[in-house]
Formats: sequence, C-alpha cells, structure tokens
Amino acid sequence: MNNLIETLKTTGNLTDSQLQTLLETNAYDAELRKAADAVRREHYGTDVYIRGLIEFTNYCKNDCLYCGIRRSNRCAERYRLTKEEILECCKEGYALGFRTFVLQGGEDPYFTDERLCDIVASIRKGYPDCAITLSVGEKPRESYQSYFDAGADRYLLRHETATPEHYSRLHPSELTFAQRRKCLFDLKEIGFQVGAGFMVGSPYQTTEHIIADLRFLQELKPDMIGIGPFLSHKDTPLRDYPNGELELVLRILGILRLMHPKVLLPATTALGTMHPQGRELGLQTGANVVMPNLSPQSVRKKYMLYDNKISTGEESAQSVRNLTEKVASAGFRVVTARGDAKTAAGRTAKPF
Ligand code: SAH
Repeated sequence: MNNLIETLKTTGNLTDSQLQTLLETNAYDAELRKAADAVRREHYGTDVYIRGLIEFTNYCKNDCLYCGIRRSNRCAERYRLTKEEILECCKEGYALGFRTFVLQGGEDPYFTDERLCDIVASIRKGYPDCAITLSVGEKPRESYQSYFDAGADRYLLRHETATPEHYSRLHPSELTFAQRRKCLFDLKEIGFQVGAGFMVGSPYQTTEHIIADLRFLQELKPDMIGIGPFLSHKDTPLRDYPNGELELVLRILGILRLMHPKVLLPATTALGTMHPQGRELGLQTGANVVMPNLSPQSVRKKYMLYDNKISTGEESAQSVRNLTEKVASAGFRVVTARGDAKTAAGRTAKPF
C-alpha cells in the first residue's frame, strides 16, 4: 500500500503538504478507496444507516448565495408542513423501518422555539425509540437548549467552509464563520450529537480551503460529517459557477473516513444527484449513511436547493426496498437501528 495512504490510515493524520498532494492528484484514489472501505468495515461492518429526511419548510430568512431556497429567490414556491403533516411523515417512516427522523428546513421564523419544541416533544412521545435530528440553522444557545430539552438528540449544521474570507464570499455579510463555529460548539456543549460538513467545489474554493475544513473538523470532532458537491441553482447569484467534481467528493470522503474512523458519513442526496451511482460509490469509499426523503410527494420538488435535485426514485422513502437492493448490490446492508455514532469505547453514544 502506498506510504501516504498507509500513514493516513495508521495515524489518522497527514501534514498540510501531504494532504495537498493527496487532494490534487488521482494517483492515490484506488488505494484510498480500499483503505477507507477497510476502516469503515472494521468499525461498522457492512451496515448502512438510514435517516428519514423531512424537509418541513422552505421559507428562509437567510440569503446564502448558493442556495435555491434563499429569501431573494422569488421563483421558489414556498411551503411549510403542519405539525400533523410532519407527524404523518414520521408515522409512514416508522412503518418503513426508519428509526431516525431528520427535520430540516430553511430558517423560517414561523417555527418559533415554542412551535418547534411542541413538534419535537410530540415526536419524542410518539416514537420513544427513535432519534430526532434537527437541521434548522443558526439559533441562540438557549433555543438549542430548549430543543434538546424537548427531546431532540442530534443537530446537523454544516460549517460550509472554515475559511472566514471564503465564508463571506458565499454568504451575505450578516452571516459569519465565527458565528457558525460558535453555534457548532454550543450544540456540542449542550450534548447534541453534532453533524458538520461542507460543499465540495463551492465557488472560489481552493485546496487550502479544503485543508482548513479538514483541520476544523479535526478540532470539532463531530459525530457526523455531511459533504457533497456544490451544484448550481439557476435562480441564485452563483448560477454560472461549475458544479463540484465526483472524484474530489469521493477522495474527500475517503480522507474523512481515515481521519475519523468512527464518524457517521452520509452518501448525500447531492452526490446521488450528480451521478446515477454517486451514492453507491460514496458507500464504497467509506460512507455509511443514506438519508432518503420522507417529505410528502407534493412538496418534494419545492425543496430545491440546487438544480435537478433528485426527488423521486430510490431517494424517496417509499422506495426504501429498492434502495435496500441497490445498497446490497454495492456490497452493504441497510439496517434500521438508530445508528448512534460510536464512542471511543466502541459503544453507541447513547443507549436506546
Ligand atoms: N437551513 C439549514 C439547512 C440548509 S440546507 C442550515 O442552515 O443548516 C442543507 C445543506 O444543503 C446546506 O448546509 C448546504 O451545505 C447544502 N446546499 C445548499 N445549497 C446547495 C447547493 N447549491 N449545492 C449543494 N449543496 C447545497
């Protein structure tokens, strides 16, 4: 095995210049994939965890330059699900075998802490054996605490890019990396299992930025890392920038698996959108989570973060059997356990 990959595999780390070499050539890709696959098998076997994604609102007060549901996008047809509709998604998901529900949305002021906590508490009561994940952006620490107290276990908040200047080129001036970072550490301190991550190939991104992202993730030590390609959206200011590259996404997935052997690593919807076998390739390069869509069919096309986001077919929960078969053909097995991140002791972070 190549020296660079062997070093990364055995020590979980490389120098910046070694990372640069690894990121900028395809020469190591085959070895990297093999090593990442071996490490994921060591800790997770062939298990692939499924999370039911409920995209419950596409209203957003933010104006992130890459995102299709940014507030300035007048073409986006807005929707929000009622509490009853969200609970219906959970019911359907539970019957399909899902034991984690991910409530993701824009930063929608309609969903006050009170409303969100009421929804979380209802899910918690109805599904005591399930994990509840929130992904609703930046909030004051007290709000995060209230969600946790209401019964949420996990929180996904991608850091997007760990380089402040790069962050400011992708976001309006009121959003800063310093604030994003604070939110992530607040969430950790409160006791959430935390997911961070970034887009690969976002406009202006350099190798240096990616190395900064890898270093930030080493510092944060999240339970989950979500990465996927940047994919342009026609009604955003970044419409003319090229999409991220499959090869680079896979390379970074492999590096992340070797740097964080026990992390939960999703093969994301964006990866599945950019290539018909994107998710399977991700699973073969260290990923071990997929997040099918549990939102009602009628709203799926409206949660359009980027052009052509897949919204029917295997990524929909109704096709979970289909997905299970696809995952099996890639050499893995869909399991329905909660799939908490494994701790250093090798046990799950929280009992059921
Ligand atoms: N409001 C929530 C959820 C945002 S959508 C939050 O702030 O966390 C979830 C993720 O989709 C974002 O974190 C971003 O990384 C990704 N995303 C948004 N627009 C995208 C695009 N054009 N291409 C690829 N990924 C995108």
